[in-house]
Amino acid sequence: CGIVGYTGADDALEVVVNGLKRLEYRGYDSAGVALQTPDDDGTLAVAKRAGKLVNLEKALQEEPLPAATAGIGHTRWATHGAPNDANAHPHADNSGRFAVVHNGIIENFAVLRTELTDRGHELVSETDTEVVAHLLAEESRDMAAAGAAAGGLAEAMRRVCRRLEGAFTLVAVDAAEPGVIVAARRNSPLVVGLGEGGNFLASDVAAFIAYTRRAVELGQDQVVRLTPDGMEVTGFDGAPGEVREYHVDWDASA
Ligand code: GLU
Repeated sequence: CGIVGYTGADDALEVVVNGLKRLEYRGYDSAGVALQTPDDDGTLAVAKRAGKLVNLEKALQEEPLPAATAGIGHTRWATHGAPNDANAHPHADNSGRFAVVHNGIIENFAVLRTELTDRGHELVSETDTEVVAHLLAEESRDMAAAGAAAGGLAEAMRRVCRRLEGAFTLVAVDAAEPGVIVAARRNSPLVVGLGEGGNFLASDVAAFIAYTRRAVELGQDQVVRLTPDGMEVTGFDGAPGEVREYHVDWDASA
């Protein structure tokens, strides 16, 4: 339903939660965040709860996460699987290295899920989304084995997207690539916000206009790799993608 990502010098958790609050008007049944923290031991810090954002905030007060400079967040409107903690996004792979949030529906998730289970993955939610985290882990592992790891998370995402059917905005982080957020879209909105000292991703500019008015709307079937000071856009096929920057001039106070 609502998606926010941030990489930069500010406190990522604060930026992401503020962004999710800006998207609350859309309605949702669960909320969650995944953070890259400096003392990562190869896994991401994830917190998620069914219900309103205050449930997530309460959980974060009880069990604070370490300060982070990159993070992703989600408010869920369930389509596959009940609105409970396990089905809330972000979803992680079995190693805990990858986390992903998703808007939309992965139409061919059942086939992918069966294939992943057959290959030894353990899926712990009922969502269509979770397959993406496992596929990212698998593609990264295969790329590393083939000596093609240089493409990193963005290349893994392009490979995964070529296997997906349906409508999706996906945003992912990899504990092994600090400061990098990768997102993809097909038939579902995704906007980049270019800030000073950090960059943003969201399903709706409302999530970041408190921080920046410089926006870039991603095109159909594009992947973006975002760092604190740059952005790289390609198609799902890896070809350089064209985007246009625009200024958001509507009033944010409403
Ligand atoms: N289909 C996904 C789910 O049910 C994403 C729903 C959404 O867009 O929030 O978890």
